[in-house]
Amino acid sequence: ILRIENLYKSFGDNEVLKGISLSLNKGETKVIVGPSGTGKSTILNNINMLVPPDKGDIYLEDINITKTNDIHKVRQEIGFVFQDFGLFDHLTAKGNVMIGLTKVKKMDKKDAEELAEFELERVGLSDFADSYPAQLSGGQKQRVGIARALAMQPKLILFDEPTSALDPELTGEVLNVMKNLAEEGMTMLIVSHEMAFARSVSDEIIFMEKGSIVEQGPPEKLFNNPVEVRTKEFLLKLT
Ligand code: ATP
Ligand code: MG
Repeated sequence: ILRIENLYKSFGDNEVLKGISLSLNKGETKVIVGPSGTGKSTILNNINMLVPPDKGDIYLEDINITKTNDIHKVRQEIGFVFQDFGLFDHLTAKGNVMIGLTKVKKMDKKDAEELAEFELERVGLSDFADSYPAQLSGGQKQRVGIARALAMQPKLILFDEPTSALDPELTGEVLNVMKNLAEEGMTMLIVSHEMAFARSVSDEIIFMEKGSIVEQGPPEKLFNNPVEVRTKEFLLKLT
């Protein structure tokens, strides 16, 4: 469903991505791991063209995202969940989930409300539909962010360190929601430092360092039998 071919990106003379290729089939979950400053976020930002790559192609099904003249349509098909939630403070949880539906998808209010309630239930927040972000915990805010992405019925969802702004006790509730989505067959590309989570939910782990993919493969393979010494060293440090 997603295919990235030979992606390059520099900021000035800082070459951040040096030929990244990866693909994601429908229903797969892959987790990108690697040291800070390696270019993980840059890949996700390239995928929805918030930051266009210098070179390389990104296909969503048969559409070449880097060349399309309707990036708005493509963005509607790709959900994005950020580290810092990105909720509107003046809207309730339900309002935050509805806004893309009414403004972007032009759905009528009643249908949008129904769908928003359904998605909030899916992330365990039925009781908080009318709460404002300031009244929610970090974990609840992030689950609103996930409900908002889900409501748009995207073909895949990108997650950039969705739990890194959360206290450890709130991390679990967000990872649980993501784990359920993986089991339901949602297609997800996740940047995360949560190794136990990566190991249990991912079809493949992608280990990156300094703008290149060092190794990618099923978690058992990377953890138990990595080809590259660097993979072993990185994973050992974290577990
Ligand atoms: P982290 O784990 O800390 O989030 P990351 O792997 O996501 O790191 P990126 O955010 O992709 O790393 O950044 C890779 C490099 O690109 C860094 O050196 C960063 O300073 C640089 N960079 C990222 N965005 C920009 C930008 N808009 N302008 C200039 N340099 C940037
Ligand atoms: Mg990052």
